[in-house]
Amino acid sequence: MESDGNGWIHCDQGHRHWGVHGAAGLLLVRGEANATEVLLQHRAPWTANGDTWALPGGARDSHETPALAALREAHEEAGVDPSTVELGVEFVDDHGGWSYTTVLARALAPITLVPNDESLELRWVGVGAVTDLVLHAGFSRTWPVLRERGLL
Ligand SMILES: [Zn+2]
Repeated sequence: MESDGNGWIHCDQGHRHWGVHGAAGLLLVRGEANATEVLLQHRAPWTANGDTWALPGGARDSHETPALAALREAHEEAGVDPSTVELGVEFVDDHGGWSYTTVLARALAPITLVPNDESLELRWVGVGAVTDLVLHAGFSRTWPVLRERGLL
């Protein structure tokens, strides 16, 4: 399938976003309830809002569901094998004209991480330590909402 999602777009709130059909990221969780960790990506400085921490993810193609886009990007950017994750609920941050879908997922098996050139580092971060990092603007808005809703 052709990749047709790459490009900048302005949302109805006046931001400039990457992904003409919106974007999606994979919020991959591992561990038990009292020791849950999430997979975060330290984004390379040259990426949009770079040198910050966020989810592996990126632009959706027109033929993709958010979950498929998130899995594809997590595979490209972090080497995550889609067959080793179980998809969960989705959370949509809709800006009007552009949206970002956070796709929750659980690791079913140990995952060998393979960073690509968009990642300075990939790290499993304890849920309580996420806000100690410098977060990407979008992720920093979504993360507390997910916590409030008890999704993490
Ligand atoms: Zn926006």
